[in-house]
Amino acid sequence: MEQGKALHVVVVGAGIVGASIAYHLAQRQVAVTILERQQPGAGASSHSFAWLNAFSKEPYAYHDLNRRSMELWHRFAHDLQVTNGVHWGGEMHWVHTEAEAERLRQHIQHLQAWGYPARLISAAEVQRLEPGLRPGTVRAASLGPSDGHIEPEKIITACLGHAQAQGAVLHTHTAVQGLRLQRNGSTGQRVQAVQTAQGDIACDAVVLAAGTDTTALAALAGLAVPQEESPGVVVRTDVRPRLLHAVSVLYMPSIDTVRPEIHLRQLADGSVQIGEGSQESLARDDSQAHADALLARATHYLPALAGARAIPVPVGYRPMPRDGFPVLGFPEPVPNLYLALMHSGVTLAPLVGQLAATEIVDGARVESLAPYRPERFW
Ligand SMILES: Cc1cc2nc3c(=O)[nH]c(=O)nc-3n(C[C@H](O)[C@H](O)[C@H](O)COP(=O)(O)OP(=O)(O)OC[C@H]3O[C@@H](n4cnc5c(N)ncnc54)[C@H](O)[C@@H]3O)c2cc1C
Repeated sequence: MEQGKALHVVVVGAGIVGASIAYHLAQRQVAVTILERQQPGAGASSHSFAWLNAFSKEPYAYHDLNRRSMELWHRFAHDLQVTNGVHWGGEMHWVHTEAEAERLRQHIQHLQAWGYPARLISAAEVQRLEPGLRPGTVRAASLGPSDGHIEPEKIITACLGHAQAQGAVLHTHTAVQGLRLQRNGSTGQRVQAVQTAQGDIACDAVVLAAGTDTTALAALAGLAVPQEESPGVVVRTDVRPRLLHAVSVLYMPSIDTVRPEIHLRQLADGSVQIGEGSQESLARDDSQAHADALLARATHYLPALAGARAIPVPVGYRPMPRDGFPVLGFPEPVPNLYLALMHSGVTLAPLVGQLAATEIVDGARVESLAPYRPERFW
């Protein structure tokens, strides 16, 4: 972007990624307009398990990107003045079988070689950290003390509130339906305006942070940004007394040989969220029966959940670029259309917001984002 010129940037999508980018742009005195088809957080962000982690992120460069963002979360939350939507304390994991134990030991060793502070802990330590747990046989256990989880809606509200205090304008229930494009040189084009049912909005640059809809919107500018469908289910419970005392995220082993492990966290209001499998597992069953079954499996390990009520939550769809890695940057054919599409967007939101603002406002090309350029698909 041209130095010294007052920029007007339209951010499409008010999930956690769009909200963070809008916040960071507004901090840089950019004039920001945020367009959200429904209400803020309506997409993947409000269906997320929202674990801040780099536990299974490969290769090292991607692990490190997530680590840097995890570290930034502390300052981000502080600057946003969010006091009860960010939960630190770490993630605890344990397994029942010797085969799983060997895999966990090797994985922790691998993470330690990358400097991640995860470590193996004893069965006694599991019990000391969380006396309310009935973990069963503990063949191996680990603690990731720098992990945490957040409540995306609270962060999104804070980002948008701070951006609006700096002059940003938010339009909810306003879908972007088209992009008005102008030829730029012999091969390229630029976005002149975004088109909505309420009229066109002229701008210097557009950020597409529309989650799973980013693919369809990018296609309007002739860009192919392939995604995989990635449904996931995280159920809730009614409000419970405090369950966990030291750690904030639990990964609990399967209670039989058929069903996958489950994960659990508790929000500030006391409600508990439970998911199944890994952060990439596909799940489509959002029935009451499935929610009841997940709660029963959690209660097996945490008897204090007895009497809780399971509340099913509709399937959420992860934004999932086809190769699993973020898509970030201005593509060469449309140099004022910034793409911001990613899984693990909750972990990555602070760093992506900061780096996207640097690229958009300063015209820099951040080297650590080089593997994530959209051109890799073409
Ligand atoms: C079940 C599940 C579990 C997850 N667990 C984790 C986890 O533990 N840790 C982690 O880091 N990540 C996790 N994720 C991923 C993470 O939630 C997402 O990467 C992140 O929420 C993406 O945020 P976003 O802002 O890019 O997209 P979204 O939250 O989907 O926001 C996109 C917004 O764009 C709006 N929009 C779409 N089209 C238009 C349009 N045409 N005009 C205007 N607005 C539009 C939508 O309404 C939506 O509000 C999980 C996701 C799911 C579904």
